[in-house]
Amino acid sequence: MFIAITCLGLLRPMLTTPPCVELNAPVVVRVGDGDLSCEPSSFDDSLDAAVRIQREFSTYPTALFARADCARIVLCTKLAYAGQLRAAIPDWEHNTLYIDTQRGAKSPGYPEHVLHHEFFHLIDHADDGDVYNDITWTALNPMGFRYGTGGVNAQTTRNTGALTDSMPGFLTHYATTGVEEDKAELFAFSITHRDYIAARIKTDTVLAAKVVRLKAILKNLCPDAEHLISIHPNASTTSHSAYPSNN
Ligand SMILES: [Zn+2]
Repeated sequence: MFIAITCLGLLRPMLTTPPCVELNAPVVVRVGDGDLSCEPSSFDDSLDAAVRIQREFSTYPTALFARADCARIVLCTKLAYAGQLRAAIPDWEHNTLYIDTQRGAKSPGYPEHVLHHEFFHLIDHADDGDVYNDITWTALNPMGFRYGTGGVNAQTTRNTGALTDSMPGFLTHYATTGVEEDKAELFAFSITHRDYIAARIKTDTVLAAKVVRLKAILKNLCPDAEHLISIHPNASTTSHSAYPSNN
């Protein structure tokens, strides 16, 4: 893949590893079965996004970017996949995380959540190469639960990303749309809403087991990354008979 990019030269000292880069021309690139497209972002929007990325990823171990195969973060706008506008897209085929610097940028907490959520998809892919299936994780769910048809079909669902305690084992409606979204939501909220998760798992044994599993996934990929999740379920909440013994 070729992308015409320029480093944000003035910002370079404050950017993360991997580097944030900005486009200087529209891009269309084939990813999976669809086209990813985006356009250059204004400098001011790119600056705001770069500062946010620096802040949010500052606690990530440097090794995690390499382990997650994230070589660069592209700052852009009008980001879309197969014609559907997106706030961010993890492109593990090209080791790139795309961030739309405008979409949702004014919604409190949303752009921060998106960064962690989408980065986890890169982690998830690097973990075993299969983002859309995880029988160990799925086995943690309440008996009879079935995921929906994926996040792609919930992009316009009202409040799909709002935290709710109405569904034991899940943080948001979006988390119920697919195992990949369930994991990404828990990772993101474990960083941005640590105290909320810590309180939930005192009574939600399914969620507690998922926190344990999430930390194991992180540790397996990058030992230092386990500490990103500073939530510590006690043993009694993770010994539910429904949980597989090999997780
Ligand atoms: Zn997602």
